[in-house]
Amino acid sequence: MTHTPHPGHLAIVGLGPGMRDLMAPRAIQVIQESDLVIGYRVYLEQISDLLTDKEIHVSELTHEVERATLAVQSAHAGRRVCIVSSGDAGIYGMAGLVLDLFSHSSDTDTITEPSVEVVPGISALNAAAALLGAPLMHDFAAISLSDLLTPWATIAKRLAAVAEADFVVVLYNPSSRKRQWQLGEAQRLLLVHRAETTPVGLVRNAYREGQKVQLTTLSHLLEHDVDMFTTVVIGNSCTRIQQARMITPRGYESRA
Ligand code: SAH
Repeated sequence: MTHTPHPGHLAIVGLGPGMRDLMAPRAIQVIQESDLVIGYRVYLEQISDLLTDKEIHVSELTHEVERATLAVQSAHAGRRVCIVSSGDAGIYGMAGLVLDLFSHSSDTDTITEPSVEVVPGISALNAAAALLGAPLMHDFAAISLSDLLTPWATIAKRLAAVAEADFVVVLYNPSSRKRQWQLGEAQRLLLVHRAETTPVGLVRNAYREGQKVQLTTLSHLLEHDVDMFTTVVIGNSCTRIQQARMITPRGYESRA
């Protein structure tokens, strides 16, 4: 009798913004069923109570390729592997890289091929929007201001386009110790088409310790502390502040 190796399982899991109640039950189940969990230190600390009987691989924030490679290789070796990202793994997370490496590593033997699953999570834009009120009621665009992997010229072109098209704009990775000027440049590009009084919501550490929610305007944006734990939501030309909540009208209001 020939021995068939046990096919592995590769799960790419979004942990949500931080609070356990905002993590999908499926994410918790998949982590519990894994024998190897891979992730950045801070995210693994967030779920440490789920990891007591597991092998864990902690890595630094910049070592994404190493983390993804280990996940793919371990799944091919027959293990149940879970690789975690904050928020949603498919939104500026690890899902794209892991699936890309997996597709290149796959062989033709489908019996021993690991199964793959992406588990969605609540992204920073959902979390920030909920804390601010209802800013994403109309068309919106998410833009990362990180020019580490994307040339600034591309980011600037997209900012100008969404500014002109009057999208609500969600900025991920707005600023960090090493990237300071990008937010000011984004503000300048948005002000070409949008009023200085446009409402802006700043959400830092949504649903985590140290949560801070602030409202300001596009012209005052740079007077606030904005860092890599902050998501910035910039209203469209109709967005209003009502009772300290940011609301982008959908259109029902004018019909009523
Ligand atoms: N995959 C993540 C995004 C990773 S990019 C997601 O879907 O949410 C990292 C950026 O996300 C941060 O710089 C910040 O802009 C935003 N972010 C992630 N978690 C956040 C939180 N809890 N509060 C506010 N912003 C957050």
